[in-house]
Amino acid sequence: MIQLWRRGLQAAARPALDRVRGFLYNLIVKKALYLSTLLALPLCCAAALAAQQPVADGPSYLLLSHDPAFLKEVSQFSVPVYTKGRARLVKLTVPAAQVPPAIRAKLRATAPGEIYSAPAPEPKDKAADPEVLALVSKVNSARLMGYAEAITMTGKRGAAQLDLSAASGNRLAMDYIAGAFKDMGYAVERQCYKDRKADKECNIVARRKAGQPGAKTILVIGHMDSVGHENAGADDNASGSAGLLEMAKILSGYRSDHDLVFVAANGEENGITGGYACVKRLKASGELSRVAWAINMDMIAWNRDGIIEIETNREFSAHADWVGARAAVYTKLKPYIAMPAWGSDHVPFLEAGIPTYLSIEHWEDHNPCYHKACDKLETLSWDYAADIVRLNLAVIAGKAGLVPLKP
Ligand SMILES: [Zn+2]
Repeated sequence: MIQLWRRGLQAAARPALDRVRGFLYNLIVKKALYLSTLLALPLCCAAALAAQQPVADGPSYLLLSHDPAFLKEVSQFSVPVYTKGRARLVKLTVPAAQVPPAIRAKLRATAPGEIYSAPAPEPKDKAADPEVLALVSKVNSARLMGYAEAITMTGKRGAAQLDLSAASGNRLAMDYIAGAFKDMGYAVERQCYKDRKADKECNIVARRKAGQPGAKTILVIGHMDSVGHENAGADDNASGSAGLLEMAKILSGYRSDHDLVFVAANGEENGITGGYACVKRLKASGELSRVAWAINMDMIAWNRDGIIEIETNREFSAHADWVGARAAVYTKLKPYIAMPAWGSDHVPFLEAGIPTYLSIEHWEDHNPCYHKACDKLETLSWDYAADIVRLNLAVIAGKAGLVPLKP
């Protein structure tokens, strides 16, 4: 072969010779590089594995989002150390300063005593109040599903990226919810907090006054925006905003000794922007100090085991236990208590010191279509969602004096 090659060299013209030399040189050098890469791989892997070890003595961080894309991102800088109920804790594998700010913003250093997940204590007295039973019997799962369908089928309801046209799904959902509250006789406010290209981003707030001065307020909130897939977000959170409408519909037939405020929050999927804007407005108007209770519904319609999570912070754990007891008396739900609070519209209210809980489907077995295009109506259980609405009505009835307008 070598002899043939030499003869070939002598016979060939200069440019052709250079091309052959170049070809052989490239072949040899590239092979060498390829081989050295192969040899180096085990070393690289060992280094990568070493980098997966948590930083010694670093705090545990609570993940403030379980969005699948975020979970993937955060796994590059952390290892999981605890997963139970609603809580996922990680330890960082790099110094905190090396974690990109967008990821760092969704991590909260957590003390071990903050984390809690267990079935709610059994109530001592299981006797049901006939008036509360009459109230919760009014919940209609078909009507509830109808509200959820109308909200789901508005198109793309993401608050931020879909503001190019005034007919965006987010805008249509705001209009639908405002119209529904108005038809029930509530005073409706568009609580707008952000200019968009073709409209404004607003919470839809429905109110009914108790009619007596100095009355306390009960506030119910659920976000109406979604992550933005077409005609999706049925569970997250057309279900909770439909629950809001169903509660408002039933309570429109009652006189209450508390002011009632229903908030269909916007922008929850973009950092709870609507929830924070709502608390800020209520604070500015002086109304916040009168809010005795707040209730959040987020993802209430995907079910396999009948478990509901009631989530709050430590300082309101007795309050959550009491809510769990109401569930045992007035619904078929199996109540669990989860702490601390993260990732939905109850957080700004808790941060403002208002006793608030989140009612949410069992998180250890939550909707596999969470934040995906397959989060559709037909995957959901409206009897289960109706039971969560019954629970939240039973809670209001336990705190407020309610009298039917037409006995
Ligand atoms: Zn949600």
